[in-house]
Amino acid sequence: MELDLGPDIAEFRAQTREWIFGHAPAGLAELTDWNNVVTTGGYGSDRRAEATRHPAYAQWEAELQQARLICPQWPEEFGGKGLDAVRVAVFNEELYRARVPRVVRGMGESLVGPSVIVHGTPEQQAYFLPRIITGEDVYCQGFSEPGTGSDLAGLQTKGEVDGDEIVITGQKLWTSGAARANKMFVLCRTDPTVEKHAGISFVLIDFTDPKVSYRPVRQMSGAAEFCEDFLDGVRAPMFNVIGGLNNGWRVAMTTLGYERGGSASVLHLAYQREFWELAETARKRGSNADPLIRQRLAWAYSQVEIMRFAGLRALAALAQGRRPGPEASINKLFWSEYHKKLGEIAMDIEGTDGLIRPEGDGNHGYPTTHWQNVFLASRAGSIYSGTSEIQRNIIAERALGLPKEPRVQA
Ligand SMILES: Cc1cc2nc3c(=O)[nH]c(=O)nc-3n(C[C@H](O)[C@H](O)[C@H](O)COP(=O)(O)OP(=O)(O)OC[C@H]3O[C@@H](n4cnc5c(N)ncnc54)[C@H](O)[C@@H]3O)c2cc1C
Repeated sequence: MELDLGPDIAEFRAQTREWIFGHAPAGLAELTDWNNVVTTGGYGSDRRAEATRHPAYAQWEAELQQARLICPQWPEEFGGKGLDAVRVAVFNEELYRARVPRVVRGMGESLVGPSVIVHGTPEQQAYFLPRIITGEDVYCQGFSEPGTGSDLAGLQTKGEVDGDEIVITGQKLWTSGAARANKMFVLCRTDPTVEKHAGISFVLIDFTDPKVSYRPVRQMSGAAEFCEDFLDGVRAPMFNVIGGLNNGWRVAMTTLGYERGGSASVLHLAYQREFWELAETARKRGSNADPLIRQRLAWAYSQVEIMRFAGLRALAALAQGRRPGPEASINKLFWSEYHKKLGEIAMDIEGTDGLIRPEGDGNHGYPTTHWQNVFLASRAGSIYSGTSEIQRNIIAERALGLPKEPRVQA
């Protein structure tokens, strides 16, 4: 089933397809299985990082940059292409169809940029945004702390104003991609005397500063993709405070709530591919004759189809100009819980082989097979970006209109 999004979108799709055909360097699609790496690979995959070091990738990156198709959803005045959510979805789909990567600027693109666009001054926008597009500044997110995850407003990291600088001291935890970042967006408490949401500031800091130290936290898959970080009196100019002093909660809510328009419409594609890979694994191992495995595979197939229809519904809503609401939580809950179960099915298909670590130095000296990695890494999906319990709370309160959960006042 395809969705008719009208003649303008059909024309945009045709132009995009032609542009990709004319500009994607030969060999890029074969470099790696981008479609798989980009979405379901998620946590625990090093393949994307390896592939981005290939010269064909650099050439593609330059082509996209020239055409303003890095951060294409940003307004043109900030270096983007000003694509609306439907066009972003179509652009993503066409890249996916051509099996070439969307060059992404990670948290800079999806979280910091939109927050600076909404809350930054013109001077801040002129300074920080181009550096994200060129890839000069790579951000990591300094929100969570030991003891502060779901209850983000309880954060303890201190920010003290000293003349025209802010001095930040505290500990952050679970910082994804910290080892690759040169900047961090930090939430810190700048006024401890007021209600907890009111005294927080949102600051961009230099993560290469000698007063920053971090160490990797190893996951059960063996990879170490996130870190704990120690900020020991790191100084940043007041210019780097976004949205004004003590106004960080509002900025953080923009950051957390920013909708990456259209990603729901391509989400199922990667899960679909993964499903067929698993079906093939079952066939090779002969477990496709096992009625219980067949039943569970049929269940997985139906879940991926549900994701496909949910994606079409999200796209139809965007095309009618409706902004995504609590659907984002429904989608997040759905894919993360599905993926954990898929990992369990994969382990049952692998049988006792699933218990054996392969030879070699694959994943940071703690090798895992592809399916072991899916099984282990999928556990993280229902924790990051808000746990499943938090998503259920949001669905209950904002989609179903149920009473708010009782909260203890701090
Ligand atoms: C792979 C991965 C990458 C991450 N990357 C980053 C990053 O880059 N930057 C960053 O700042 N953080 C990051 N995080 C941290 C993530 O945001 C937190 O782990 C998450 O918000 C949960 O917080 P917590 O771990 O402190 O658990 P807690 O908040 O302590 O929760 C513990 C348990 O209690 C439940 N719970 C908590 N509150 C409620 C409630 N009100 N109602 C019902 N149940 C509740 C939770 O669902 C959970 O099961 C990452 C986490 C993971 C796993």
